Amino acid sequence: MGARARQRLVVVSNRLPFVFKRGPGGRWRTERGSGGLVSALLPVLRDRGGSWIGWPGTAETGPDLDAAVAAAGGDVGFALRPVTLDARQVGDYYYGFSNEIIWPLFHDLQSLCNFEPAYWGAYKEVNRKYAKAALAASRAGDFIWVHDYHLMNVAAELRALGCRARVGFFLHIPFPSPDIYFNLPWRLTLLHALLQYDLVGFQTLRDRRNFIQCLRLLMDDVSVQGKGQVVSVTAGRRTMRIGNFPISIDYNAFMRQAAADEVAQRAQELHRMLPKRKLILGVDRLDYTKGIPHRLKAFRTALERYPKLRERISLIQVVVPSRVDIPQYRELKSRIEQLVGEINGNFVRPGGWVPVWYVFGSLSRTDLLAYYRAADIALITPFKDGMNLVAKEYCACSIEEECVLILSEFAGAAAQLQRGALLVNPYDIEGVADTIHRAFTMSDEERRSRMRRLRRSIRDSDIFWWVDSFLRAAIAKDLSAFPLPEKHVSEAVADYVPI
Ligand code: UDP
Repeated sequence: MGARARQRLVVVSNRLPFVFKRGPGGRWRTERGSGGLVSALLPVLRDRGGSWIGWPGTAETGPDLDAAVAAAGGDVGFALRPVTLDARQVGDYYYGFSNEIIWPLFHDLQSLCNFEPAYWGAYKEVNRKYAKAALAASRAGDFIWVHDYHLMNVAAELRALGCRARVGFFLHIPFPSPDIYFNLPWRLTLLHALLQYDLVGFQTLRDRRNFIQCLRLLMDDVSVQGKGQVVSVTAGRRTMRIGNFPISIDYNAFMRQAAADEVAQRAQELHRMLPKRKLILGVDRLDYTKGIPHRLKAFRTALERYPKLRERISLIQVVVPSRVDIPQYRELKSRIEQLVGEINGNFVRPGGWVPVWYVFGSLSRTDLLAYYRAADIALITPFKDGMNLVAKEYCACSIEEECVLILSEFAGAAAQLQRGALLVNPYDIEGVADTIHRAFTMSDEERRSRMRRLRRSIRDSDIFWWVDSFLRAAIAKDLSAFPLPEKHVSEAVADYVPI
């Protein structure tokens, strides 16, 4: 066996990269998960060998599901190891600790947290299950890469099981400032747990700084060595690495697919249905962090302040269903639909212009790309977002380079895209309204130069670059031998500080 075969990768994430659903006749159907992470990691896993550990998305178990999982793994060329969860675990670990505590807290919405003590026990228990599965799937020399806020405790559980492998972690959501983080009843235990990783990756420099500040305020003897994209941190007897790696998309795939005839035809169809006007696009999962009601109010304010926009602009707002079992999410849906109704009721012209075109549902890939291509302006205004991939996908699909990106300064992507996008404060309804007007009236020349800059930055730091830089940071012997190429450091890693 060569050296390459020994350096396998074991990926651990909440969900497996495939969705398993019962089809007609009760047979399991397998669909590959969408998303850049899956596309980027599949070739790495196939090349190095290894396995992917995660929940198959169903509480069912049995030999026919095992066979479907094994067959999906056989097709992609590496092993899929399902972690089964019962209904209580899904309730307390996934909906509870992960989505009623960590998700709102790490997005600065502490008032939405439900700090139910029982959730922490379930979180530890389920993280232990993932750790056991990772240990069983790995052998000496493998690198274990754990993903996201559902699984922050996995390295601590692995160490408790005697695992000495290198273990890395990437947090896909933001890491909050100490003022917010300190609300967490398990704040110190969780910091100790994160220190058990050999490398912790954050989306932005701001997240990384927040984490280091929390360490400094809660623990003695914390020191940071180095100044680059990846630094070494010593806390007590533990030394590990911390870095910031802005996640990205498969830029070339989006660009290529957006140019397909089928997509171009669908985009033209949209323009025929909504004629003689500029189209503004919002695409978001149903989530209170995405700022959809504020965005609708900003759009309404733009129509009130700038009457010449009426009949010359329409907002297409796509809301992708998510966590609809949670009452807060259902209430948000009603609020959005009420606002859409009010705006359309106030401004609609009989037989003609509809200001807001609202879609609640998941889009096919062709439709999503057609919306991206058809839209003249993207309006992406989350209150807080780890990165926001829709912003990057929109730019990759803007193949004519004539579109404008309006982006919240609180999206992780703002750090990288600040020089091409129009940045806004999503809470500033009038400011966003003025920016919509600015985007509408922007000269062709300015639009092109901004979009060209955005696309170059996303192309240079795509998802393959992201995987490669994380893995290199995990194994580099000497961190001074790990600077990113200059163009990445200047554009991708510079942090945005609102003034
Ligand atoms: N997306 C999707 N189905 C849709 C619309 C969008 O899968 O109907 C994808 C979109 O292409 C993007 C992801 O959902 O890759 C959203 O990622 P983002 O980082 O913007 O937000 P998140 O939902 O992860 O908070």
